[in-house]
Amino acid sequence: MMVQTKHFIELSDIVALRFACKFCDVTMSLSLSNEKLKSGETQMDHFWDKCPNCHRDWLDINGAEYQQILTRATGSLNRLKELLYSETAAKLGVSFLLEIKPEAVPRTISPNP
Ligand SMILES: [Zn+2]
Repeated sequence: MMVQTKHFIELSDIVALRFACKFCDVTMSLSLSNEKLKSGETQMDHFWDKCPNCHRDWLDINGAEYQQILTRATGSLNRLKELLYSETAAKLGVSFLLEIKPEAVPRTISPNP
């Protein structure tokens, strides 16, 4: 017999994007509730083109393609959140969860006896 445990999160559990520079290790979190990410605007201030600390290239590799994809994806996530958690969502005949990999769930470390 095989026993399998699946893990799910709600879309509302996702609160921010986190960027970590591969060159200087500085990190930057950007809330999904940021107004520009919420709207899915593609003409942003290019704030993730380069590291704010060491100024090495982050997403400014092949034009603005990565930035546009990230901006559209976060805009879509925010629109889906608004739909799923709005007052009219109570009328929906379905709930929505995201399944995550088992290894993404923090393991509890038991103390040595
Ligand atoms: Zn950096």
